Amino acid sequence: MKFDTVLKNGQLVLPHQGIVAGDLLIHEGRIAGICMPGETASAARCIDVEGKHVFPGIIDAHTHYGLGSADDFLTETRSAAVGGVSTVLTFLANAGRYSEVFPEQRRRAEQLAHVDFSYHLCLMTDEHLKEIPLYVNDLGVSSFKFFMNFRGEEGKYMGVEGTDDGFLYDGFQAIAKHRRAKAVIHAENIEIGWRLRDRLKAEGKDGLEVWTASKPDFLEVESVRRACYLAKVAACPLYLAHMTAADSCEELRLLRKQQTPVYAETCTHYLTHTAESPIGNIGKVNPPLRYARDLEALWEALAEGTLDVVSTDHVPRKFKTKQGNIWECSAGFPGTATLLPVVLSEGYHKRGLSLTRIAKLLSENPARLFNLYPRKGSLSVGSDADITVVDLDKRREVKAAELESNSDYSLYDGWKLRGWPVLTMVRGEVVMDHGEVKQAAGYGRFIPR
Ligand SMILES: [Zn+2]
Repeated sequence: MKFDTVLKNGQLVLPHQGIVAGDLLIHEGRIAGICMPGETASAARCIDVEGKHVFPGIIDAHTHYGLGSADDFLTETRSAAVGGVSTVLTFLANAGRYSEVFPEQRRRAEQLAHVDFSYHLCLMTDEHLKEIPLYVNDLGVSSFKFFMNFRGEEGKYMGVEGTDDGFLYDGFQAIAKHRRAKAVIHAENIEIGWRLRDRLKAEGKDGLEVWTASKPDFLEVESVRRACYLAKVAACPLYLAHMTAADSCEELRLLRKQQTPVYAETCTHYLTHTAESPIGNIGKVNPPLRYARDLEALWEALAEGTLDVVSTDHVPRKFKTKQGNIWECSAGFPGTATLLPVVLSEGYHKRGLSLTRIAKLLSENPARLFNLYPRKGSLSVGSDADITVVDLDKRREVKAAELESNSDYSLYDGWKLRGWPVLTMVRGEVVMDHGEVKQAAGYGRFIPR
């Protein structure tokens, strides 16, 4: 048999077997086999990846498209391809019924995307709760976000009303009826946060550390505890987005002992920056950056398995939205294109996090938790040929302009990172080769889950 493509002489990063030398065979967009050294197979196209590591396609499970510009699906999936990311999951937040707004969103995204994508839906109204069966069965969406931080006045600008704990519990019950569905939680006790914020504002305080002081770590820990307790009562599987704190990891260890069905993610910025980093307003994000103790605790939790996923919470706004004082400037920043280099540089090279663990954190686990597995997140026969080829020793200085996002800045501008993707493949086609995007917009597909 003649295969479409062979990726030759790579070091295959197989999460369960280890690092294996071999050739990866690709046919009709899927992985068709692995040839061990010495074996040969004929293919129409041969790509030599000697000395490089071959990962299952990297997934960014947490992005916010639509906050940068109307064309975020164009620019940000391009940026994803540059960063070695072959699938993105993005949050869709709309106060209208998703049964009405989703088809058009999806159609438009499919015209623009360079890599594959799927959605999490933000649940914000009782209408949304009623439509959950339709979202799971007809729209192909099985993960639903609850904002524990958007309530009352804070929620109104998002079109969110009445999302209190009663809403949360009703939502958990509705989700629990669907075998594959999950609730995604932004854990933050905002009622305490508002009082702290008002006090700090009245004192005329400003700066990144003040932002963190207005949302201290125990707001997260308390919400984790509350959400997990309610989810356990409702028998609803939970995914805790963007964990930031050492004490949250401690809480997760306890919850796991009690068999609570909970999974958790952190994001690259909590692994590299703190409230004390000299980056000013750029570092404003929700939840806020923490301290050195938390940063190291998160790395430990990733290595030992307390945390399941690293994502980015990518927000592709322009630098100009970061002007003004800390209360006025926008929250969030871009991250998808630097996800893999940051974890390789700071995790593998600096802290000895294993490559197989990285393949789980950035590919297999998000695929499993969000029902993309084994189509995505695996180098097994039959999986989509989504592949990220990495040069572990490539050193490169981050320059935002080269990352192709709508955002014109990066938290990592000027950082010299070691370990970069050199090739991204989606369903057997090369979408990025040595930094250059190869497929036209519209190649990316919506993946129902
Ligand atoms: Zn987010």
